[in-house]
Amino acid sequence: MKINRKMISSESGLSLVELLAVIVILGILASIAVPIYFAHVDRAEHEVCSVNRNTLSKNYELELMFSDRIHSEVVFQEFLQMGSMDVCPVGGIYSYSDGGEIQCSRHADSDDDEEDEGDKEVPWL
Ligand SMILES: [Zn+2]
Repeated sequence: MKINRKMISSESGLSLVELLAVIVILGILASIAVPIYFAHVDRAEHEVCSVNRNTLSKNYELELMFSDRIHSEVVFQEFLQMGSMDVCPVGGIYSYSDGGEIQCSRHADSDDDEEDEGDKEVPWL
């Protein structure tokens, strides 16, 4: 009978110290993984916005050429509302510059150049 009690008591789950150790380890892993996850999400949104702006810019220039119109803010807003083009994934507002590039109110172009030089990965679509 004494042997059975000893065996039962040794298999009775985790002690408080072991449970705290597991919680601390999970907390450390989460504190490392969560910022990396959100950095990847931000970078993916930025890349999607950049690709959408490039596509939109080319389509807008083709639309101007085929409809024989001149760029103005009204024409650009009509083009944005007319087409079913993809827009900024975080809801940025696009504006067309005379240089032929589309600017996003939420994503700057300066970061775009640095990322393009760094890694040549296919953006998430
Ligand atoms: Zn954007």
